[in-house]
Amino acid sequence: MRLSRYFLPILKETPKEAEIVSHRLMLRAGMIRQQAAGLYSWLPLGKRVLDKVSRVIREEQDRSGAIEMLMPTIQSADLWRESGRYDDYGKEMLRIEDRHERDLLFGPTNEEMITDIFRSYVRSYKDLPLNLYHIQWKFRDEVRPRFGVMRSREFLMKDAYSFDIDYESSKTAYDRMFVAYLRTFERMGLKAIPMRADTGPIGGKLSHEFIILASTGESEVFCHRDYLDMAAPGEGVDFTDAAALADIVNTWTTPYAATEEMHDEAAWNAVPEGERVAARGIEVGHIFHFGTKYSEPMKAYVTGPDGKDVPVFMGSYGIGPSRLIAAIIEASHDENGIIWPKGVAPFDVGLINMKPGDAECDVVCERLYAELQAAGQDVLYDDQDTRAGAKFATMDLIGLPVQIIVGPRGAKAGEVELKLRAGGERETLPVGDVLRRLS
Ligand code: ATP
Ligand code: MG
Ligand code: MG
Ligand code: MG
Repeated sequence: MRLSRYFLPILKETPKEAEIVSHRLMLRAGMIRQQAAGLYSWLPLGKRVLDKVSRVIREEQDRSGAIEMLMPTIQSADLWRESGRYDDYGKEMLRIEDRHERDLLFGPTNEEMITDIFRSYVRSYKDLPLNLYHIQWKFRDEVRPRFGVMRSREFLMKDAYSFDIDYESSKTAYDRMFVAYLRTFERMGLKAIPMRADTGPIGGKLSHEFIILASTGESEVFCHRDYLDMAAPGEGVDFTDAAALADIVNTWTTPYAATEEMHDEAAWNAVPEGERVAARGIEVGHIFHFGTKYSEPMKAYVTGPDGKDVPVFMGSYGIGPSRLIAAIIEASHDENGIIWPKGVAPFDVGLINMKPGDAECDVVCERLYAELQAAGQDVLYDDQDTRAGAKFATMDLIGLPVQIIVGPRGAKAGEVELKLRAGGERETLPVGDVLRRLS
């Protein structure tokens, strides 16, 4: 992408309304624009990050065996009357009436709809286990939307739903998602700690929130410091091996970790004082095991191997990609701007032409621009005739992992400068070495 042809509305001033750093940086970097309280447009740079984050989530969901689909944002109230949640959900639900005076709602989550889909097609234990997910916009009329896309009213959610014949296999489905989540967050450069959590309006008993420690987080959390050094399972993890999954989950749930609602003073006091981490955290994911809470009232029954009909065992598993982006920035920035972890950066490389119009600079830049793209790199090429200071400030602000700086003197000598955004390391190298250096 050529910057001269792109739409990147950088803000010079620090927006006054933004109270936390991720919100400030997202506005300044031209990623989002507020349209009304808690409603945001995703400008081109922000949209790219949203797509990258969703891609990582999708890859890990698919790897674990979940299957992607897409459900509508608008739902019929009747489904929610079946589960009893139409009345229970309260004011966070945006209720809508259509021209025929039928009650609709903008989905805050999809347990009812997926249960309806399931009961319409699946009759036998032979079709299980099944895990269906989608990545779709949700709406919750939050009392206090704030912190930009961290707590917005319309937000993106990946929500998966598992179906199993009995408790034991549904616990394996839960473990599968648990492990997929550990991998997902690690790939985004985040340390997300699974903590015992309250189930709120979704229901059920077994539940974990995935929490990123951050002073700007809205939840109060308590965990053992061991979590800070634990590494997520690698790519080779076998999602068909129930015992291996249970082992991983066991390891990750043994040290103390709980959100405020589930905090247990006695267990906490048993943790040696020097090992306690009491902090604030951001909830980026939440998984629930709720058994037959929806399948029973909504009559989603399957026939077991013994010929008997039983309500299907379910779980649901959410991640908020839009909130996640803000959380990544909270965890990864400096005074100059965002520092994107590799897998989720809007572009992989920022190519800076220090002197557009200079024949040698132009030739080197055009060559690198073409070669890098041919090698599969996403390149943002700053071909604009602007001051050096402004170019550097913009690149640092938008946080691409690698910058390649092409100036007239270097270009003449066949050399460019490579700068890593995270640590600021710089090196000069021959134009012909750039591709190899980045692959
Ligand atoms: P919170 O406690 O922050 O209100 P929640 O517990 O209501 O979140 P869940 O129902 O568990 O949220 O939804 C799953 C995920 O969706 C959350 O872990 C979070 O990542 C995301 N999410 C929920 N509400 C919002 C919101 N208002 N804005 C952005 N993301 C959200
Ligand atoms: Mg909420
Ligand atoms: Mg919560
Ligand atoms: Mg939650």
